[in-house]
Amino acid sequence: MVRAEQVHKAYGDTPVLNGVTLTVERGETVCVMGPSGSGKSTFLRCIHNLETIDGGRIYVDGDLVGYRETGQRLRQLSGKDTCRQRAHIGMVFQHFNLFPHMTVLENITVAPIRVKGMNASDAEETARKLLKSVGLAAKADSYPRSLSGGQQQRVAIARALAMDPKVMLFDEPTSALDPELVGEVLAVIRDLAHTGMTMIVVTHETGFAREAGDSLVFMDQGRVLEHGPAREVIANPLHERTREFLSTIL
Ligand code: ADP
Ligand code: MG
Repeated sequence: MVRAEQVHKAYGDTPVLNGVTLTVERGETVCVMGPSGSGKSTFLRCIHNLETIDGGRIYVDGDLVGYRETGQRLRQLSGKDTCRQRAHIGMVFQHFNLFPHMTVLENITVAPIRVKGMNASDAEETARKLLKSVGLAAKADSYPRSLSGGQQQRVAIARALAMDPKVMLFDEPTSALDPELVGEVLAVIRDLAHTGMTMIVVTHETGFAREAGDSLVFMDQGRVLEHGPAREVIANPLHERTREFLSTIL
């Protein structure tokens, strides 16, 4: 579902991704760990086409991200095509980024209505189903500021799902939460993993990675240093850097 081949990305003179290669199968949940600054967020942003890449290729469900390929030539997608492509990819950030002036229901229906042209009543029906699935059916008319961080993050997940994405990207979805709220968000992501959604989850929650992750990637200095079954990587890291890192979070 996602294939990254030798992805390179630099900010000015600073290389951030140094040849990231990763394949995520349909229905697979890949957890990504690695030290701060190792390029995890940048990699997700490249998949979502929020950043252009300097080298390599990323495919989502067979579609080249950001470009159209005709023979040997690559042409950058137009703004409209970029939007269309982005609509297939759901992203959940550390800081929920809900629209503060909209109700929970409006937060979830706005993109399906405006981007996909869904009619309002269908969008609302979908949104209510999704709210129920994240345990927030009663909060449809609330505003984000009246919700806890855990509830806001669950709304953010429902909002991303409302676009019926092919893949969901999570960038440290629980690291801004108070510890007692982490579990409720991880439970929602775990349920989603069991529905067969394809997911890339940047997280340092090793318990979650073991239970819900099909595989675990360890990134270091803009590279995939290790990629294997989550339990194996956690129990028996191959690289000294992975071992060191895990010892700081376990
Ligand atoms: P991680 O998510 O693993 O902590 P990031 O992908 O956020 O790492 O960042 C990787 C590196 O890229 C860091 O050194 C960071 O300072 C740098 N970086 C990230 N975004 C930008 C940006 N917009 N401009 C310049 N440098 C950036
Ligand atoms: Mg990050």
